[in-house]
Amino acid sequence: MSQIIHRSLHSTPPVAVSAQGAYITDAAGKRYLDACGGAAVSCLGHAHPDVLAAMHRQIDQLAYAHTGFFTSDTVEQLAAQLTRTAPGDLNYAYFVSGGSEAVETALKLARQYFVEIGQPQRTRFVARAQSYHGNTLGALAVGGNEWRRRQFAPLLIDVVRVSACNAYRDRRADESEQAYTQRLLNELEQAILEAGPETLIGFCAETVVGATTGATPPTPGYLQGVRRLCDKYGMLYIADEVMCGMGRTGTLHAFEQDDVVPDIVTIAKGLGGGYQPIGAVLASEKIVAALQAGSGLFQHGHTYICHPTAAAAALAVQQVIERDNLLEAVKTQGARLHQQLREVLGELPHVGDTRGRGLFAGVELVEDKASKRPFDPAFKLHAQIKANCMARGLMVYPMGGTLDGQYGDHILIAPPFIVTASQIDFVVDTLRQVIVEETGKLARRA
Ligand code: PMP
Repeated sequence: MSQIIHRSLHSTPPVAVSAQGAYITDAAGKRYLDACGGAAVSCLGHAHPDVLAAMHRQIDQLAYAHTGFFTSDTVEQLAAQLTRTAPGDLNYAYFVSGGSEAVETALKLARQYFVEIGQPQRTRFVARAQSYHGNTLGALAVGGNEWRRRQFAPLLIDVVRVSACNAYRDRRADESEQAYTQRLLNELEQAILEAGPETLIGFCAETVVGATTGATPPTPGYLQGVRRLCDKYGMLYIADEVMCGMGRTGTLHAFEQDDVVPDIVTIAKGLGGGYQPIGAVLASEKIVAALQAGSGLFQHGHTYICHPTAAAAALAVQQVIERDNLLEAVKTQGARLHQQLREVLGELPHVGDTRGRGLFAGVELVEDKASKRPFDPAFKLHAQIKANCMARGLMVYPMGGTLDGQYGDHILIAPPFIVTASQIDFVVDTLRQVIVEETGKLARRA
């Protein structure tokens, strides 16, 4: 009997005992192809020898030192690596233990920036519906995932909410992609004006939406429009790339494909690839300069910031990605994955949309393709698909639709950057069989 508060309090998951490359093995000796990296975490696969060696070296030398007393070479090197490879003047890094902490840090850094430059009346953020920024209270507040928020809503800071950018769901049939994008930007500008631009800290958004709607990329020009509006109204643009960043979409940062540079970026999952818990915030020159010129202190901090062992793992992961040119692999295998999803799944009667970038793909399931009507959430189709895939030795990340019934069940696919063509074939073929089987059961039930 497990004494852990597991995600489900009704069941205990299989016990993972070992992992190698793209596979995890459970206590019964069964192997699973990890085609979602847990939650888009394991970008290098498991047990990469170079990462393990770097971690061993670090632990032998210096496992931990508190930042109130020391910095360490490894953390300094990781900061140098990340700021060297980031575009624009994202010249500073702050290291935490995961994605939610990174988002909390970004929100507080943005707020302190305005206090330091004499604009303390800026107290609110603008963020989008159907987004996820983490489960701590600040991150949950900017997030727009109602299912995750609803119990805690009374505890959350007030946020100005605008629509998600989701062309499959929200672009009208008679509307061009450009007109849809402009409509969203008009809505954003209107929301800024109604709230009072002088009261706003910044706009926070996932570049490619991950957990809530499944690898949903922005439309062309959308983020450039966001950048322009933030500049026009003196707001900061915070890109949450906790899930979609660090190479997952084929460029180190997903926003590079949109030709914008945010003021603050959060990264986490692919930063350390799951070898250690680590997240980070990258901040632009002007923000850190304002703090330097002002109080000379970022009023924040956790016990495990700049953890040397976590930094050693992340540095090794990032060095392997660069050395082995794995962003090219993400582009090549990503193209194969998307093509197969379109060709093999796209024709199925209950696959409404396949989308994403690089090795970050989403499949949205619908009961009716023409009207895009989702399945009844009571069917818990996503849970059936997950169980069926696990039975066949495949890990993908299915999620339910939204509470308002607007968005359907979807599946997130995020294999490691070392994934092979035949592993991609297995993922797509297995998913096809599972979707046919599970949607067939629902059709018989209806
Ligand atoms: N932001 C985004 C975009 C995420 O996808 C997640 C995690 N799924 C988080 C923040 C929170 O990260 P963590 O679970 O590491 O706290």
